[in-house]
Amino acid sequence: MGDTPAREARVHMQMFRRLPVTLVRGEGTRVWDNTGKSYLDFVAGIAVDTLGHAHPGLADTIARQARTLVHVSNLFYSEPQVELAELLVDHSVLDQVFFCNSGAEANEGAIKLARKWGIQNRSGAYEIIATHNGFHGRTLAAVAATGTPRYREPFGPQMPGFVFVDYDDLDAIKAATTERTCAVLLEAIQGEGGVNVPDPGYLRGVRDWCDAQGILLILDEVQTGCGRTGTLWAYEQAGIEPDIMTLAKGLAGGVPIGALLAKAHCAVFEPGDHGSTFGGNPLATAAGAYVLREVIDGGVLQNAADRGEQLEQRLAGIEDRCELAVGHRGAGLLRALVLSRDAAGEVVLKALEYGLILNPVRPNAVRFMPPLTVTAEEVDAAAAIVERVLNEIGP
Ligand SMILES: *Cc1c(COP(=O)(O)O)cnc(C)c1O
Repeated sequence: MGDTPAREARVHMQMFRRLPVTLVRGEGTRVWDNTGKSYLDFVAGIAVDTLGHAHPGLADTIARQARTLVHVSNLFYSEPQVELAELLVDHSVLDQVFFCNSGAEANEGAIKLARKWGIQNRSGAYEIIATHNGFHGRTLAAVAATGTPRYREPFGPQMPGFVFVDYDDLDAIKAATTERTCAVLLEAIQGEGGVNVPDPGYLRGVRDWCDAQGILLILDEVQTGCGRTGTLWAYEQAGIEPDIMTLAKGLAGGVPIGALLAKAHCAVFEPGDHGSTFGGNPLATAAGAYVLREVIDGGVLQNAADRGEQLEQRLAGIEDRCELAVGHRGAGLLRALVLSRDAAGEVVLKALEYGLILNPVRPNAVRFMPPLTVTAEEVDAAAAIVERVLNEIGP
């Protein structure tokens, strides 16, 4: 077997900052490394492993579909694709779906759709207002919409047509809107940007502004969707309806998938406009349909809401008792503990030692995003490890 990190360093491009662990197996919220050590996984593949690891029903679904039909391309109809599209449309405010393979791809589709809509319906408008610290993926258009200049600047001329404003600042969106604007692109909660929760009235205000101006609201729910924040879609908590929504991460519980959803009035793609070889293949969509049914009908959504509340209480307690913790934010099972200094990396490494996987989403903030099937005992166990780590590190 040899030393996996050394083998990786020889043959894999070095752009990931990986934790020094080689994971070999999982079950529920728990994963094991190649030395036999086990960890509580409160990263869940970056908010992807919705039903935890090695979920028997999901594994059976994938295995059955693999023995039946993995891939046929979109030159044909397929039952699982229609079934997942029906589930998404019947359980959201959007009307039509296009499947792809990742969050970045879903956002590429959303950008193309909004531009085509603007060119047809708003006198050639093509500009999209996006937010500083927003994250929409690493492909060239998605990264052009991503509010972190470092992710864009090494790669030469950037795709034009994106304007950036501060997140949670409605007046900035108003000031940036011109006759060239076709859409506003936002996360309901900024995930990679630090689990930044906007003011309760912000999304409502953006929705009203988009309506008044006749421009589209694109919500990137790649991270917040599929029950992660305690409701099936985060937009429900804001009491608004997006025109376009993008999904990926948790939708198929770890099988790569992305989805672009739109209301009928802006679903302007025609044959030949856009496409994907793999997108929506029977394997990925069968997995997605299984996961979504478990979330909606299998009690997983209620668990996410309940365990999310419990996690919030535990983080609040840690904030009360540990000087290093100075705040917490988030919704459902997407949360961050804010530190008084840039110690997130240190906290994550020490937690790893004690068998808990966390993510340093900001230098001073640690992100929690366990499977939506996490148990009450696991939330308590994770919180106890975090408290021990913070006490050991000190203020
Ligand atoms: C992760 C993420 C993406 C990118 O998804 P990929 O599957 O990595 O391309 C886009 N938007 C948001 C909000 C994300 O969290």
